[in-house]
Amino acid sequence: MRLENKVIIITGAGSGIGKETALLFAREGAKVVVADMNERAGEETVVEIKKNGEGIFIKLDVSNREQAKEMVKITLEKYGKIDVLINNAGIVQDAFLSKMTEDQWDKVININLKGVFNCTQAVVEVMMNQGKGVIINTSSIVGLNGNVGQVNYAATKAGLIGMTKTLAKELGKKGIRVNAVAPGFITTPMTSNVPDKILEMMKEKTPLRRLGEVKDVAYAYMYLASDESNFVNGAVLCVDGGLVI
Ligand code: NAP
Repeated sequence: MRLENKVIIITGAGSGIGKETALLFAREGAKVVVADMNERAGEETVVEIKKNGEGIFIKLDVSNREQAKEMVKITLEKYGKIDVLINNAGIVQDAFLSKMTEDQWDKVININLKGVFNCTQAVVEVMMNQGKGVIINTSSIVGLNGNVGQVNYAATKAGLIGMTKTLAKELGKKGIRVNAVAPGFITTPMTSNVPDKILEMMKEKTPLRRLGEVKDVAYAYMYLASDESNFVNGAVLCVDGGLVI
């Protein structure tokens, strides 16, 4: 029970990494708020959580500031506190720069970057009043290394590293730790359209010679969410099998 009685909001917990994390955290004793735009997927995650844990679903589009505030209000009404926020929701809209539309650029910025601003600002006042809290942002190795065809996505994931380090400095004295996880290539619905040839190439480039699984990232989130990482602040934890070293 590494997360016993902690109230943990996970955005984008209806699918992929977020869903795996929600289920793992519930098994470890957390009360999990599954916050996702996809109502059907989010509700399904909660049904699974409730088999041996506690959680609720809140419909949330992270790019909507009012919905982020409402999420905090509902969470406090239900559980009375917020220990951890995981800003996990994210999307891709890939294209080479020459072909990228303004809409593709704006969508990715609004969800991946502004969405983190919205949710973090909404929870931070609660955490400051509590005198403690943990925020985990989901970056990517693409934010560290760049990636062809992902200029919008890379800009957001690099931006999250700047936000993480800045907020670690701003909020540390209030007892709030802010860290980031930078996953490598993880098998999820987000990466399901990647051609086999590219997948094989990624495996070969990775020192551990495999792709990541959702549980690899979920366990990294768990370390950062738990009291085991009490002196870790402003860190970017790569979960990539050694791809970027
Ligand atoms: P995923 O399987 O696509 O799950 C993302 C979830 O977020 C989905 O349920 C999605 O709903 C939801 N979502 C999308 N837009 C949202 C919004 N505006 N507000 C709230 N929820 C929203 O993705 P994943 O692969 O698990 O990725 C999770 C995080 O890890 C993302 O931030 C991603 O950038 C990052 N990451 C992933 C990888 C990888 O290889 N998979 C690598 C590095 C970083 P819909 O299903 O309706 O879209």
